[in-house]
Formats: sequence, C-alpha cells, structure tokens
Amino acid sequence: MILEENRTASYIRSLYTGNTELLDTIEQEALRDYVPIIRVETQSLLKLLLKQKKPRRILELGTAVGFSALLMCEYAPSDCHVTTIENYEKRIPVAKHNFERAGKCDQITLLEGDAMEIIKTLDGPYDFIFVDAAKAQYIHYFPELMRLLEQDGYLVSDNVLQDGDLIQSRFAVERRNRTIYKRMREYLYVLKNHEELETSIIPLGDGVTLSIKK
Ligand code: SAM
Repeated sequence: MILEENRTASYIRSLYTGNTELLDTIEQEALRDYVPIIRVETQSLLKLLLKQKKPRRILELGTAVGFSALLMCEYAPSDCHVTTIENYEKRIPVAKHNFERAGKCDQITLLEGDAMEIIKTLDGPYDFIFVDAAKAQYIHYFPELMRLLEQDGYLVSDNVLQDGDLIQSRFAVERRNRTIYKRMREYLYVLKNHEELETSIIPLGDGVTLSIKK
C-alpha cells in the first residue's frame, strides 16, 4: 500500500541491503511460508530507532516466527532484553526454534497467550514497545501500554494504515474490515491527541506510528 504501490517504493526497496545472514534466512523462510513479518522499510526504520534510542527493555506484541524480535535483539544494545507475545500455537515452536538458532534464548522471553491478557500481568517499565499483533485490538492495548511505557520511551505501532483503507470513506471499506477501520482511526486519533505523547504517523510499509512519551 501507500509507498508499496508506486515506483518510489520499488526504488527504495532496490537499495535494501539486508540484515545478518541468519535474519535474511529467517525472513526468506517466513515469506516462503506466508507468515506476515515486518516489511523491509519497517525494518530500516526499526534499526534506525534502535540505534538512536538504545533500549534496554523491549516489549513486542505479535512474535509470529520471531523475525522482528530477533532483528530488534540484533540491533539493540547487547544487554537489551526482548519480551515478545504470541498466541498462535503453530508459530510459537517455530519462533522458539529461531531464537535457539540465533543463540538468543537468554535475551528473548516468549510469552504464550493473548496479548491483552498478558500485558495486564506485566510490570514494566519498558523503554521500547513494538505493537504488531491484532490491529483491531491496538486501541484496547493502549491504556496498558501507556502504563508500561517509561518516560521518553518509544511506542511503535505497525500496520496502522490498513493497505490504504484508512483514508477511504467508511462506506468504501469492505463490511468485514469496518471494525478494524473504526478502531484504528480511533487509535490514531488518541495517539495524536494524547497529552503525554508526541506522535508521528509515517506512511511507510503499511503505515507505522512512532510515539514518544513526554
Ligand atoms: N512482528 C512479527 C515480525 O515482524 O516478525 C510479525 C507479527 S504478525 C504481523 C502478527 C502476529 O500477531 C501473528 O503471528 C498473530 O498470531 C499474532 N497475534 C494476533 N493477535 C494476537 C493476540 N491477541 N495475542 C497475541 N498474539 C496475537
């Protein structure tokens, strides 16, 4: 969507330099198996943000097979710990296997279950939170994420522009996508208007927000 459909996006993608050999392998395996993982534009942005923020405690919602958790682990400081949450039983063993392959089992904690239930039980604080799970739930995760995010912490949310649907009239959106549409618009409104956050909505990949807690 957005950039993806046009030649600018193709050009930007042609400059992509990849990651470590193992990350590139895991990315190819995920794409082969139709597992949704962060796009290359989002990877670049995350790497840049990690370099800038240097987080020590990362929370991720939506592990899939562990690609983005491993990417964050690789590009954050070596003493950073990543806690990541996944509820899809078929993906959990693959993610664990990938963490073993990378030798990162000590640095990554995989919590199995529904993100909404699990985040309520976490203590925090986290200085970097990456939200990449059920899009319709972002607005419901938000109060807990604010509780868990420390001051100056980064909240990064992926897939916020819904393949372009979000800029359409509600009636142009397929009926089955309208709940996500409504909730995502509400989420973006809250991020932009929350007095404790400074937020930028970035039309890259499928749309990413970057919020910093004041
Ligand atoms: N962050 C991953 C990456 O880039 O490598 C991709 C995550 S994928 C887009 C979203 C994942 O969130 C899926 O694997 C899905 O099973 C998981 N998910 C969806 N709803 C969830 C929930 N309520 N609790 C936990 N995980 C959930």
